[in-house]
Amino acid sequence: MDYLTNLLPIKIEKTDELPHLEWSHGLTMTLPQLLANHLIALGDDNDLQKLTLTPKHINSETKVLSQASLIKLRSHAAFTNVQPVSGRLPINYQYIPSYIRDLIASVMGRIKRSQQARWATFPSWPLDLSADFIADLGKETSSLPVKRYTPVILTHDLDSPEGLQNAVRFFLDIEEAVGASSANYIVPCAWRIDHSYLGELKKRGHEVGIHGFDHSNKTPFLTPTERQKRLSAALPLIKQYDIYGYRSPSLLRTKDLLHDLKNLYCYDSSIPTSGGPFPVSNNGCASARPYQIEGIWELPLSMPRDGSLLFLGYSCQEILDTWIHCANLIAKSGGVVNLLTHCEYRFSGKPAMRDIYKRFLTYLADSGRFTFVLPKDIISTMEV
Ligand SMILES: [Zn+2]
Repeated sequence: MDYLTNLLPIKIEKTDELPHLEWSHGLTMTLPQLLANHLIALGDDNDLQKLTLTPKHINSETKVLSQASLIKLRSHAAFTNVQPVSGRLPINYQYIPSYIRDLIASVMGRIKRSQQARWATFPSWPLDLSADFIADLGKETSSLPVKRYTPVILTHDLDSPEGLQNAVRFFLDIEEAVGASSANYIVPCAWRIDHSYLGELKKRGHEVGIHGFDHSNKTPFLTPTERQKRLSAALPLIKQYDIYGYRSPSLLRTKDLLHDLKNLYCYDSSIPTSGGPFPVSNNGCASARPYQIEGIWELPLSMPRDGSLLFLGYSCQEILDTWIHCANLIAKSGGVVNLLTHCEYRFSGKPAMRDIYKRFLTYLADSGRFTFVLPKDIISTMEV
């Protein structure tokens, strides 16, 4: 048995005299068995399900094990290596009318909501910060968390002309009213891009990024030559709009894709912290902090996204409550809030969802603990 691959959930009951781990108090973390066993053996009660952490848990072996466990856990479910049915169809699945796709997804989603134990074994839903817990476990006991504003990244995947139009007509005003700007990932080769809208977005200080090739869920799974051809098709837009970042359609990503992205982009933001049931069960990196992977910065999509929540049957109020809960937890843990909303009517473009978005942004702005930033600005401050 590989004791780094085998995972164990364990509840952090107390963190006595460990200020840098206080944020994890009361949360359940999923740890590689080797690290969990080591921590349990250092405690007094030998309980396999809960842990009271004290300074004696943080010895040199803990630090070595934490480093190995962090790398292992972050990559454990980071990639979606199997191409979904939508990507294997002879035609682009986007040609199937959206109401049919929505119907299928929402029936599946509502069934899945009652089966959370199956699709959220690891990472857990709606947020799993196990990798960040392990990173902090390997730090000095005396290191206090630095008090700072929590960065908030607002992102939109512009899947259609309607999405682009709605972003400019409805979403920018909501964001600018609280002093925020958003990053907007556009599909380069699926439909005619209206540059008057994209140009306005850029002119108003928002960021433009790339969202795949034609949104047919194929690029990550192609041969290197075919993938390169698709990735290169975005070059004119990259130049025209001073683009830094990439978001993969349907959040499908492979090691090979990330490896190739580093030649064109400064960052990728396709790996969710906790992916929920889509695109596949049990996917995500369990971290809300930027990190380097395959030679490129990854900005984990740390918040549960609008599409997943809607398909799972969450009401607007439940979505707002979940976002506020997750944002506060991420802030406590020292992570980055990274939210994806779609501007199409069938997602966050409908008035009730726009209202939720506005209320969420107002909550963050009024709390005085968060600061709105663009992904490109976060990346420019990162050190390897
Ligand atoms: Zn998309």
